[in-house]
Amino acid sequence: MNSREEHENSLDFIREMVAKDNESEKHDGRVHTRFPPEPNGYLHIGHAKAICLDFGVARENSGKCNLRFDDTNPAKESVEFEEAIKADIRWLGFEWDNLCFASNYFEQMYEYAKQLIEKGVAYVCDLSGEEVRNYRGTLTTPGRNSPYRDRSIDENLDLFRLMRSGEFDDGAKTLRAKIDMASPNMNMRDPALYRIKHQHHHNTGDEWCIYPMYDYAHCLEDSIEGITHSFCTLEFEDNRPLYDWVLDQLGVFHPQQTEFARLSLTYTIMSKRKLAQLVEDKHVSGWDDPRMPTLSGLRRRGVPPQAIISFIDRIGVAKRDSNVDMALFEYCMRDDLNARVERRMGVLNPLPLVIDNYPEGKVDELECINNPEDDSAGTRKVKFTKVLYIERDDFQEIPHKKFRRLTQGREIRLRYAYFITCTDVIKDNDGNVIELRCTYDPETRGGSTPDGRKVKGTIHWVSAEYAKPATIRLYDRLFTVENPLAEDNFTTSLNPDSLTELKRCMIEPSAADFDTGVTFQFERKGYFCKDIDSSDDELILNRTVTLRDTWKKIQNRR
Ligand code: ATP
Ligand code: MG
Repeated sequence: MNSREEHENSLDFIREMVAKDNESEKHDGRVHTRFPPEPNGYLHIGHAKAICLDFGVARENSGKCNLRFDDTNPAKESVEFEEAIKADIRWLGFEWDNLCFASNYFEQMYEYAKQLIEKGVAYVCDLSGEEVRNYRGTLTTPGRNSPYRDRSIDENLDLFRLMRSGEFDDGAKTLRAKIDMASPNMNMRDPALYRIKHQHHHNTGDEWCIYPMYDYAHCLEDSIEGITHSFCTLEFEDNRPLYDWVLDQLGVFHPQQTEFARLSLTYTIMSKRKLAQLVEDKHVSGWDDPRMPTLSGLRRRGVPPQAIISFIDRIGVAKRDSNVDMALFEYCMRDDLNARVERRMGVLNPLPLVIDNYPEGKVDELECINNPEDDSAGTRKVKFTKVLYIERDDFQEIPHKKFRRLTQGREIRLRYAYFITCTDVIKDNDGNVIELRCTYDPETRGGSTPDGRKVKGTIHWVSAEYAKPATIRLYDRLFTVENPLAEDNFTTSLNPDSLTELKRCMIEPSAADFDTGVTFQFERKGYFCKDIDSSDDELILNRTVTLRDTWKKIQNRR
């Protein structure tokens, strides 16, 4: 049984839990999830895993899923990022039931904080950041109580009000939960609930100068929205007791937080902050650089959303972190593209070839299959003429033992066209091959002979007269090492050859007609799509992925 069958036959642990909750009517059989990105960057393929889970579980259970911008940290957030996030989610094929902003709940969160103070379980603390660290203790030693821990409720309410009205400088005071400075869970040692930050917020303007901390805010956002199942990545496991504590203290609706393994991929990184650094330091051309693991980068590169979904589906949801092989992702791209997209011919590195016995000026129209995997894609006519271009490396003057393609004196097949034999090799003064002379057999039209003669190789071609020039960008892995974040400075392992640009490639004319966003295959060369940098003067194509399948090889080796 392969991994996909396994996956389809059994529910992952999260879906199993949701099914049980439905059975026991834990939330009156309601399923309401949320996807809560912080709008501080573009989404990456790791987020796609969370999106497929959050929106997927809701969809499978006829439930709801909110898109919630977790905009509680004013420093790095912007509307540009919000718009990009929405576009990416829709591109993946999901639609939210409610669009929510954590910042809309600031007033309510403030009221809840006052309730905690009134209950005697929150206090205003004057310790500086460094002092708080000193008081916190370590994993093996308990912390010490803050000297401000026993302020009266009235004093705390007063100070908290003054914090809000802008009386104090950044960092001068925090509101902290009064829990247990000896807790074995460091998160429970009187964590901060609010900090002072005199900073403009892209949504609430200058209304607030205190902002809630993630652990306090997130559970309340979930509760306010009536979220039943709150999925997050494993690093939040130790934050769950605090999530539960806040909700229990307030006695409000209590969603269930459940953690799953985050996705990481070899040869790339998955962190908005680090990806932002690549953009800011101009290691890439932008968030949508086709080498980026962002959804906008993958889209621009030509990776279809279906390939991303099937990849996410294939890796499944588990409770153990793992570094997924990039080759598996590429396998999923090929698997999807191979079945669906049209074929064309394109010559990346052109070498002119003249057919001496082909009539001057004659144009033959040859029938080519658009997609051998899909009959409904039909056929097209491609013009064949006396002068063609073939791929430079489809010719070897002194052929390697295993070379099956064109060499002087050998007959091979031009795909969909004729058998040709190379008769002469023209060189420049430096000895470089600049043109091939050939003869063709008119009896072999379509690529077979009446006498059943066989050839060793088949190569692609374009008509020199009709072909269109294109610039082609070839991409390689962004990093040279499997796990760039294990390096001291991850930018030192950036791959200097991650982008190669080929000028004056020659392509079948109809390959120039595809819109951006439509991926197609150049036979024998890989999958390509038109880049948004294209202009009337220059067609620019991205190579999405090659045809070579390293993943199958890796599997066979195992
Ligand atoms: P980053 O470090 O890239 O900014 P984040 O976790 O801070 O990631 P958020 O915007 O807070 O980013 O993430 C929104 C949701 O996406 C969260 O529920 C988070 O757990 C999930 N998520 C983020 N990265 C991954 C990942 N690599 N794999 C799976 N889920 C992820
Ligand atoms: Mg974050």
